[in-house]
Amino acid sequence: MKTLLLHDNEKDIEAAGEILSRGGLVAIPTETVYGLAADALNGKAVESIFKAKGRPADNPLIVHIADLADIERFSLVSEFPEKARLLAERFWSGPLTIILPKGKSIPDEVSAGLDTVAVRFPSHPTAQKIIRAAGVPLAAPSANISGSPSPTTAAHVMNDMNSKIDAVVDGGECSVGLESTVITLAVNPPRLLRPGGITVEQLESVIGEVDVDDAVLNELRNGEKAASPGMKYKHYSPKARVVLLHGSDSSYINYVNSHDDKGVAALCYDEDMSEITLKKFSLGGRDDSLSQARRLFSSLREIDGDSDITLVYARCPDPDGVGMAVYNRLIRAAGFEVIDLEKL
Ligand code: AMP
Ligand code: MG
Repeated sequence: MKTLLLHDNEKDIEAAGEILSRGGLVAIPTETVYGLAADALNGKAVESIFKAKGRPADNPLIVHIADLADIERFSLVSEFPEKARLLAERFWSGPLTIILPKGKSIPDEVSAGLDTVAVRFPSHPTAQKIIRAAGVPLAAPSANISGSPSPTTAAHVMNDMNSKIDAVVDGGECSVGLESTVITLAVNPPRLLRPGGITVEQLESVIGEVDVDDAVLNELRNGEKAASPGMKYKHYSPKARVVLLHGSDSSYINYVNSHDDKGVAALCYDEDMSEITLKKFSLGGRDDSLSQARRLFSSLREIDGDSDITLVYARCPDPDGVGMAVYNRLIRAAGFEVIDLEKL
């Protein structure tokens, strides 16, 4: 199939809506990452998302809406508790996904057989226009081949999905750069399942105590069940082996420079670039988690573009605020391999 490259103009948005309403697949820009969208109420269409991505069938999808009223209009959830209303009021539209008991219209393909559903109202104007043009909520995981870094530009999507999906709508570079924060309200106290652009502190300021699921910062032990199925898979990884180096600026620079080889690359803070002698890629600014979030997946994909690189030494960010999301993705890209430079 030929994958159309569409843009944010009236004719193309209408075309995207038309493809979606007849059960096709369209990759759409959002403020987090590009999503691979299908009609969330059409089980067959949703099934084709799993095929295109090579996504395990037990990993549920997020349902995207463009109006709070869509939740009731399409019977997406069976309950909308007070805490959901407070979170929606404060953080929607935006990079927050809320998990609630699922409504009767949600096909099993979306919820992967669970009795809950994940809902998000994206803030990206192009995403909102496409959802409205489709006339239905859209189920959309990230628009990458399962396991590889999420796409933050239309070119990334084309790289993974060309000829596998009907169209990509180019909406420029994603402003957050990491997937949404996921919180479940199906348990008490509410629990953070995936960190993102909305931090734990922000959530707690609105609804009080929020637990952080163990799998956010730690590796699941063998046989342990993931509250969020996505957490159990190796994720976000480039082809090269990634190792996180924990330590000061100088110990990081000294360590990587002493491993200078054409197969080795550094994923480092911008401030340290000039002192690093081997191949280097940006992990954003040292004290700027937002820029780290924007850079991370793009840099992992650039690293994939250099087939000589087999080993990447990445800086280990502090898991505070938005840094928790950067750390969560990077530690999975590294398969939880960390070297503590202060203990060498
Ligand atoms: P993606 O959109 O590819 O970033 O993946 C969506 C993430 O949300 C995955 O980690 C899923 O496991 C998680 N998710 C979606 N629906 C649910 C649900 N009903 N319960 C728990 N986690 C969910
Ligand atoms: Mg994903």
